[in-house]
Amino acid sequence: MSPLLPLQDVGVANPLTDAHTQLDRAVELLGLDAGLAATLRAPRREITVSIPLRRDDGRVEVFTGHRVQHNLSRGPAKGGVRFSPDVTLDEVRALAMWMTWKCALLDVPYGGAKGGVCIDPGQYSLAELERVTRRYTSEISPLIGPERDIPAPDVGTNEQTMAWMMDTYSVQAGYTTLGVTTGKPLSLGGSLGRATATSRGVVDVALAALAYRGITATRATAAVEGFGKVGRHAARFLVEAGVRVCAVSDAYGAVFAAGGLDVADLEAYVDRHGSVRGYAAAEVILGSKLLSLPVDLLVPAAIEGTINAANAFDVQAAVIVEGANGPTTAEADRILNERGVLVVPDILANAGGVIVSYFEWVQANQAYWWSAEDVDSRLADRMQQAWRGVCERAESLNVPLRTAATVMAVERVALAHQQRGLYP
Ligand code: NAD
Repeated sequence: MSPLLPLQDVGVANPLTDAHTQLDRAVELLGLDAGLAATLRAPRREITVSIPLRRDDGRVEVFTGHRVQHNLSRGPAKGGVRFSPDVTLDEVRALAMWMTWKCALLDVPYGGAKGGVCIDPGQYSLAELERVTRRYTSEISPLIGPERDIPAPDVGTNEQTMAWMMDTYSVQAGYTTLGVTTGKPLSLGGSLGRATATSRGVVDVALAALAYRGITATRATAAVEGFGKVGRHAARFLVEAGVRVCAVSDAYGAVFAAGGLDVADLEAYVDRHGSVRGYAAAEVILGSKLLSLPVDLLVPAAIEGTINAANAFDVQAAVIVEGANGPTTAEADRILNERGVLVVPDILANAGGVIVSYFEWVQANQAYWWSAEDVDSRLADRMQQAWRGVCERAESLNVPLRTAATVMAVERVALAHQQRGLYP
């Protein structure tokens, strides 16, 4: 088989433009004044760093990294670190803003942040990735810390990345600081349930959304775009709930089985081969085709902008649950709303990750560890409560779920700004 090369980039509009459009709508509905709106829009702090890497063969390459803290009014900044060749400062700004709203919506006592390094991790050895991670951490270390800004894994990073970041920070500090990152290995202060938390939350909300639309889970079909940390566990939990997962994709290919995929077998295949591409027990389809399959539920769990104006009219699913951040562009969102598709927005749907990151941080700071049952039941409570709250607000305002969720989040952050006042 030829080497794994990514499919052509499907992301479109600048995600920051979409994030601003969503904020503007919430500001308008809340009637906030222009000064407060401008404060909510502006990132609080940004740092862009150069990351020189000595490659295994002795050559030196330089990468660019960012860390953006969008808002700190409700607590320390919180947000993932992305390693991807597509990272841009505007993308990181948008993702940081969405983290602010997500933490506020779920009433997690954090502000929002995001980080990214413009690198394709698949092209570098583990030792090289460790050096990049440590140098990036060192460069952004003036901003991060358990009471300042707490990174977590995102696209292209994992618990090993978080362990290296925690170690680098701790060595510089002179003592072990477990609370500086979340999504760490269990042996290093990670939390039970963190690795699957985002996907559990996605599926909790997906089942609630299917029921809201009168669709019985055990008769429902689904397609999952992206088979990484979020997508693969979401696919498995959907199957456990009785949903037939008919299609999944990743950056290299997509597979389909009308009768439902054997997700456990597919996971084992991906662990061996690095992609769903070449999986022989299912039909090969185009990644773009996955979005327009006649399924009940679509879970985009890859990158931003995959559901856009070019394909929103083709979506046949009744329900979209955004496992990814920003997978639906503002224009696609408008089209889907007009067509009556129920879109459960990212800041609600994928909040399970930051909820259990918060639990991990609480456990690490107290050096007292919870059982898996405690973590999962507290996660489910928070997700269900947020789902009900957003549905009620959407009904009372007669707006889509995304607008309702953003209104609730912006309202909480605006209140914090007003109560803290303006310094000086
Ligand atoms: P990951 O790197 O583990 O997985 C990403 C997956 O998407 C991979 O399978 C990749 O091949 C695939 N992909 C990339 N481009 C694609 C394309 N054009 N078409 C189809 N598949 C494509 O990343 P992840 O942590 O699973 O994150 C996925 C999304 O979920 C991101 O938007 C991320 O911000 C969001 N998210 C992640 C978490 C978390 O806890 N990891 C929490 C909240 C939100």
